[in-house]
Amino acid sequence: MRQGAIETSSDSTTTYDVNHGLRPEMPEGYVEWDAPMYREYQHYFDRLAQRIHLDPAVALRLRVPKRIVMVSVPARMDDGTLSLFQGYRVQHNTTLGPCKGGIRYSADVNLGEICLMAMLMTLKCALVGLPLGGAKGGVLCDPHRLSRDELQKITRRYTTEIIRVIGPDHDIPAPDMGTDADVMGWIMDTYSLAKGYAVPSVVTGKPIAIGGTHGREQATGVGVCYALRAAARHISFPFGEGARVIVQGFGNVGSHAARKIASMGSTVIGVSDMTGAVYHPAGLDLEAVREYLAQHRYLKGFPGGEALTNAELLEQPCDILIPAATSHQITEQNADKIQARVIAEGANAALSTGGSAMLEERGVVIIPDILANAGGVVTSYFEWVQGLQNFFWTERRVNSELQRVMDDAFERVYLVSQKERLGMRDASLAVACRRIEAAYQSRGLFP
Ligand code: NAD
Repeated sequence: MRQGAIETSSDSTTTYDVNHGLRPEMPEGYVEWDAPMYREYQHYFDRLAQRIHLDPAVALRLRVPKRIVMVSVPARMDDGTLSLFQGYRVQHNTTLGPCKGGIRYSADVNLGEICLMAMLMTLKCALVGLPLGGAKGGVLCDPHRLSRDELQKITRRYTTEIIRVIGPDHDIPAPDMGTDADVMGWIMDTYSLAKGYAVPSVVTGKPIAIGGTHGREQATGVGVCYALRAAARHISFPFGEGARVIVQGFGNVGSHAARKIASMGSTVIGVSDMTGAVYHPAGLDLEAVREYLAQHRYLKGFPGGEALTNAELLEQPCDILIPAATSHQITEQNADKIQARVIAEGANAALSTGGSAMLEERGVVIIPDILANAGGVVTSYFEWVQGLQNFFWTERRVNSELQRVMDDAFERVYLVSQKERLGMRDASLAVACRRIEAAYQSRGLFP
């Protein structure tokens, strides 16, 4: 029997994964969208909404998701057993336009976190001026223990289960942790088969062969570096030549951020993945890291530096820290041990709001998630626009538009932070909320 599965029938080929939500073993947070991580953000949001005098009716609408869809996803595994996975799609807000947000495959997926991510997507889209609302989806599974065939089956069934709520005019998924361009291709194909014609614009982050855009894969990591460069124009900290950088997580966001920041002259002294960290104060050979990962899949055992735990890596002295793995890596528990001067939040909610406040109090500059990692959704938006127009841009155009949007967003946030004496996280939220508030007021609030 597969590890983590329980037998439920005399027919030994029929087993059900413990992740099946209807069982007593269902993980904590399976149905509670109001989970601790979400509640912590809500408290922070409530306080800030008062401080910036946000219309209370708008604040009320923004603090909860518009729609939560929970689905069971059965899939026949390679060994013939049947497993049942829990899937979610949360649509947070559609005031500015159709929902946009990634789909996450992870053994840690829970509804509270997905709801928080959906809310952050609403705020992120508003902050960078996109005509889009926020959503997030996820399937509770461990993609590292699944074959490509199994992943494809899960993806196709999950898509079928949420097909009524997604679409190019409703809700457009994209890759996130544990998903990639192939997964988007399978979603696009499943959706198109149901419609009877090709609908490339139902997803972004898909392969270029089926309407993906140049530059999407690296967009989030590269965008983090654009945000840092924009910050360095206003705030004094080492950037470029001589700056020492640590990157937590070496997946899509982390690996591209590390490569880009190294190409801007900085020295990457530490990186990590879920198996641990590698640290070299004189600078890591990122090409050797890439080759090692291509051969061994995980960083563990990489010989080009000292092996550390993920927690230890975060605490090493550096100029810039880019947490690009998962949420709540820096909280009130470890914030006092962080030695970075600037933190650019590559991962969504990589810092708890409490941990973030402690660091800002100490003078650490925080470039928050909804600003720092917006490059992904901005380029997804470019892909969506290109798909709707059937007119495709060059990589140069994608990159220059991305730089423009990231620079403008940073400038707007920085201006508000200076004018209203707000930290960068608060200022980002203020810019985003006011844009949504203006849209609500123009549309007329639904009572
Ligand atoms: P990914 O799956 O490509 O990579 C995740 C990386 O983090 C992997 O190297 C993994 O081994 C590592 N990791 C996972 N758990 C870890 C842990 N507990 N400690 C240390 N490392 C760990 O995912 P990604 O697409 O790079 O996304 C990373 C983060 O960035 C997520 O929070 C995601 O929501 C956010 N994000 C992604 C995009 C995007 O375009 N992919 C856009 C915006 C935000």
